[in-house]
Amino acid sequence: MPVFKSMPMGESGLREVYSWVDSYVKGNQKIADKISLGKSEDNKWDIPAVIVTNKSIPGDKKQNAVVTLTRHGGERGTRVIGPEILNYLASDDASEIRDNQTVIVVPVANPLGFILDEFHSSMHGITDLEKSVWGNLCSLYTPDMMLDYHSLGKIDGAKYDRGDMEVILPVNTTKWGMDEQIYQYVANRMAEDTAAKGWPYEVHSLEDLSFYYFGETTGRFPQKYLQEKVFLLHIQNLLEHYDFPNKMPAYTNYTNGPAYYKWHTLVFGIETNHWAIKVEDGLAESGLAPCQSLLNMGTTRFPWEEDAGYPTNLLVGDFRISIRASGKNPGERRISREKIWKERANFDILKREMLEDPETTLAEVGYIGENVPLKFDLCLRMRQKLIKKVTVEEREVEFGTFKDDCSTFLSIPITLNKPGLLKLTIRHEPFKRQIK
Ligand SMILES: [Zn+2]
Repeated sequence: MPVFKSMPMGESGLREVYSWVDSYVKGNQKIADKISLGKSEDNKWDIPAVIVTNKSIPGDKKQNAVVTLTRHGGERGTRVIGPEILNYLASDDASEIRDNQTVIVVPVANPLGFILDEFHSSMHGITDLEKSVWGNLCSLYTPDMMLDYHSLGKIDGAKYDRGDMEVILPVNTTKWGMDEQIYQYVANRMAEDTAAKGWPYEVHSLEDLSFYYFGETTGRFPQKYLQEKVFLLHIQNLLEHYDFPNKMPAYTNYTNGPAYYKWHTLVFGIETNHWAIKVEDGLAESGLAPCQSLLNMGTTRFPWEEDAGYPTNLLVGDFRISIRASGKNPGERRISREKIWKERANFDILKREMLEDPETTLAEVGYIGENVPLKFDLCLRMRQKLIKKVTVEEREVEFGTFKDDCSTFLSIPITLNKPGLLKLTIRHEPFKRQIK
């Protein structure tokens, strides 16, 4: 049974959600706490965050997952989903999530917008109130994952599909360090999990989102959308350009963009739909589904990651050769990740080379920044199963390995004491495919 049987509206609706949150925290004292992140613009309404976790496990041993809802006041679907997520987090099914993550849920980011049932936010960047609210939250819990909930209605839906879509949006704003592939991988798993529960979510990019908001109501594809879809084609001929009559100012829809830039947080947006799906038809359940999927993925190991958790440690390079966050637990890796992520553009060389000798691979790492000493793991995906010996500048060093279905990841802890180039030699067995 869903927590809310009808849509909470106006001031009484906000009070209803707040009193539900208070009784939830009171009824789940062993695992839940409430903190305040600030007050609404009129100073009248608190902006609460509920922290759900296994309190007997220290924070350093867990990842921080942040779920934010109701940034845009009129997006009603989000109002009933926050409590549904909290209820799930208190269930037996979520015990592994509580053991491995500190989950912070902000059920109402915009209390005034909720009461007014209006957008009451900014189209361009995050509001001053949000800067302080998310600043307060992230100073307490550096996020490893951040999921921001929105909800489409009849008129704010896609211009070509009005009033009937639910969407998972990978909202990282760069393709750095394989992030585009990693985000699509995670988004597609979320879409499979939600589909298995009977909810047909689509995976759309930020460019697609821009189309639903700024496209033409006739359904005709606008030029801006075309420009983005054909970007790679059109840069092939530098003399050829479109002439765009209406230039759009930059648009920020999700609260979590800055967290990607600062901490390489895994950031997703969700658009539920309060027009097509009524409260009594499972709106809250449909909204819970992608969150449940992502939180559970955060307790598993991704094939290219050494440890279980959100896939945020690959900071420079690709799956074959990369610079990764180092540390023996999630807390240490968070600190390491922030430091290396700031230096990402200062790694000027990442190179590997396979020699005639089938038992040797050479690698090079170059760093031109000044933030030394700098610790990181250099990670190589190897075809060979057995790695025998690794030397850095001709000195033998320790290394670790982990595997995916068909390869071995070699992880070499490195501390750079000064900028420059490091040369590595990796000795391994020759590769021999066993043909069956
Ligand atoms: Zn929105």
